Amino acid sequence: MRKVPFIDRKLAEEIDAKIPTPYYVYDEEGMIRNIENIKSAFAWNKGFKEYFAVKATPNPFLLAIMKEHGIGVDCSSLTELMISKAAGFCGDDIMFSSNETPAEDYVLAKKLGAIINLDDITHIDYFDSLCGLNETMSIRFNPGGIFTVSNGIMDNPQDAKYGMTEEQMYEAVKIMMDRGVKHFGIHSFLVSNTVTNDYYPMLAQQLFDLAVSIHEKTGAHIAFVNLSGGVGIPYTPDQEPNDIFVIGDGVRKIYEKVFVPKGMDDVAIYTEMGRYVMGPFGALVTKAIHEKHIYKEYIGVDACAVNLMRPAMYGSYHHITVLGKEDEPCTCMYDIVGGLCENNDKFAIDRMLPKIEKGDYLFIHDTGAHGYSMGYNYNGKLRSAEVLVHPDRSFEMIRRAETPEDYFATFDFSDFDFR
Ligand SMILES: *Cc1c(COP(=O)(O)O)cnc(C)c1O
Repeated sequence: MRKVPFIDRKLAEEIDAKIPTPYYVYDEEGMIRNIENIKSAFAWNKGFKEYFAVKATPNPFLLAIMKEHGIGVDCSSLTELMISKAAGFCGDDIMFSSNETPAEDYVLAKKLGAIINLDDITHIDYFDSLCGLNETMSIRFNPGGIFTVSNGIMDNPQDAKYGMTEEQMYEAVKIMMDRGVKHFGIHSFLVSNTVTNDYYPMLAQQLFDLAVSIHEKTGAHIAFVNLSGGVGIPYTPDQEPNDIFVIGDGVRKIYEKVFVPKGMDDVAIYTEMGRYVMGPFGALVTKAIHEKHIYKEYIGVDACAVNLMRPAMYGSYHHITVLGKEDEPCTCMYDIVGGLCENNDKFAIDRMLPKIEKGDYLFIHDTGAHGYSMGYNYNGKLRSAEVLVHPDRSFEMIRRAETPEDYFATFDFSDFDFR
């Protein structure tokens, strides 16, 4: 599918005049439309709730919009809980799906009334002694083995650090029932960025079967099944996007097959999608500032891997559009590179693009999730601003760019003078 940027060159220039490149832009209209689609795709389930994975895009302005549209948040750290609280979330609008959790994180999650999803059986005692168990507790499952869908192996849960074994799941429920827990949730996250409509239904089959089995063996009330994240987006133009309505309907069929005959038709379905909710609705906009002709043709841009780590870290493809040249033929082959002293700082390698002039704006697509948030400060490079484009095409800064003062802030106990 042809990838179309959600801003044009004119808007990129207008933003640049106030908030210099590089900056992240987010498309409010697209994000809201997508959230509403997710809700309708699962509307057949009374208790359905999406808990947006905050780590994907931890910006309180965006979270507040999500809250208005009725979705919750999935947190896994102290500061993610703090951001969520600031954006107005509390109680069972917060899912706390952490692992290797520090005590203070659990204490805050408890204080906010979040639903606690325990990653390990040993965390029952840990959480109980810190906070006391809640009436509803969730537990995370790791089925081990290899997870396959129709088109092959997807991942190896047996090598993943998350979750409990099947035996431990039964054991955990029994321990917590003895301590007065009344309602249980079951959670699992097996594969990232699946671009197939089969992933959620296949996971649902495993988790629903397990839920029935736990219910039958222990008598526990299963209140929800959390399918977690992993629904992906097509980063390359040739990939077929997921259809959330097909996915929702696929899960419904399994629900009707597994739960309904057992009288378990009050089980709520929860999801914790991050990438699927925000990925396509954010972009990194960066300006071409240099061109270099050696053994290859390079375009140097004012963003670098600290602003978007995925290509350097995973070799990920991110589509690039040169704004204002959407319809020009892609006749030049470039490496698009940032200024880190690391040779993996390349947003694209051997990419065919229209001829790029210095000053051109490059729109790096599909960076609305796990983009800004994976940023870092290597080489003393600073994090960019974030900008929200409203449905009427006006824009608003929703995070300012870092300054050198921010970078030096952790030396504020010392007498060094950085000015
Ligand atoms: C990262 C994460 C998610 C979101 O994953 P996506 O790939 O963005 O959908 C959901 N739940 C948990 C526990 C996670 O760690």
